[in-house]
Amino acid sequence: IETKLPKVGTTIFTVMSQLALEYKAVNLGQGFPDFEPPQPLRDALARAMDEGRNQYAPMHGTAGLREQIALKTERLYGRKVDVDREITVTSGATEALFAAMAAVVRAGDEVIVFDPAYDSYEPAIDLQGARAVHIPLTVPTFSIDWQRVRDAITPKTRMILVNSPHNPSGAVLSAGDLDELAAIVRDSSIVVLSDEVYEHIVYDGAQHQSVLRHPELAERSFVISSFGKTYHCTGWKVGYAIAPPALSAEFRKVHQYLTFCTFHPAQVAFAEFMASTPEHYLELPAFYQAKRDRFRALLAPSRFKLLDVPGGYFQLVDYSAIRDEDDVAFSRWLVEQGGVAAIPLTPFYETAPGTRLLRLCFAKSDATMEAGAERLCRL
Ligand code: PMP
Ligand code: GLN
Repeated sequence: IETKLPKVGTTIFTVMSQLALEYKAVNLGQGFPDFEPPQPLRDALARAMDEGRNQYAPMHGTAGLREQIALKTERLYGRKVDVDREITVTSGATEALFAAMAAVVRAGDEVIVFDPAYDSYEPAIDLQGARAVHIPLTVPTFSIDWQRVRDAITPKTRMILVNSPHNPSGAVLSAGDLDELAAIVRDSSIVVLSDEVYEHIVYDGAQHQSVLRHPELAERSFVISSFGKTYHCTGWKVGYAIAPPALSAEFRKVHQYLTFCTFHPAQVAFAEFMASTPEHYLELPAFYQAKRDRFRALLAPSRFKLLDVPGGYFQLVDYSAIRDEDDVAFSRWLVEQGGVAAIPLTPFYETAPGTRLLRLCFAKSDATMEAGAERLCRL
């Protein structure tokens, strides 16, 4: 067959998790917590199933969950969103990203993405018959050079995709970055797709600069989040998209024929847990900051150089003092010989910059972090 995605193989997350199993390595690769979601949330899920919430949910999400999302959005970002017309619950952020692109990007359009870019973005763009225009982030801060963005805009630019806190680097956008973005898209028809799945995981007292805080940008944006990250349940695959009514209407045209609706019992459980325990997401920065700091302290005696981590749950490390080879080769060596699975950055680039960096996930129990760090310190 003539493949539609000739460049796509198996995602690096699956590749590395399989290698971790094969070599019995400590898996600090694929990003998922190795601890359980809060017990009351699991109880609420079981109850929702026992109470018969097992059939299709409303197409755009249960009213209870959308209300909780709206409350949170107003409380944290000062934006009132219309519960009925601006929030759509999706089967993970992955579905939301795909649906947003399919809703507005046409064949021949261009979508600006920043490299390293999360690996689901480009295939979703390709499947629209559109073209991803890659702009590398500035290493080692992984910040956006806005002049390069201005230079990349053409009449075909339909969308700019931003991700803060950023996977894999942990970089966060500032309020000034949002102003730059707003100035670039002003008086254009460019739509912003803002991947904010790590919105609650920002460190050192910083505030997450959601596009929803920026009224001008919010008027032309899809903002995507994921309950998997916030509530330690990546396997439940529930996320959502917030967008103004006209964009949400187009989004729902795709969503209703892509999945129609999202796992019903989990929506009931999230709504109940968010109402009873709103402090969960407020406590998340401190929860993960303790893990970040513990992991960094454990790695301090190693020969890895640690980059700053302003947000997210990944630590980038420079391994150049250990071996002189590219990151794909090094991550292969590390899982086979070092007993630790990590994620190389090259798969997230159009043009690999040759940095000697690996991504390690610290959404892990103390025991896992210690086991991983002990092996990393031997190298
Ligand atoms: N975007 C980014 C930046 C992510 O890191 C992830 C999850 N790893 C997703 C989207 C997808 O989220 P979900 O699992 O909810 O589909
Ligand atoms: N988002 C996770 C990560 O960055 C992986 C998700 C997946 O495996 N598709 O590691």
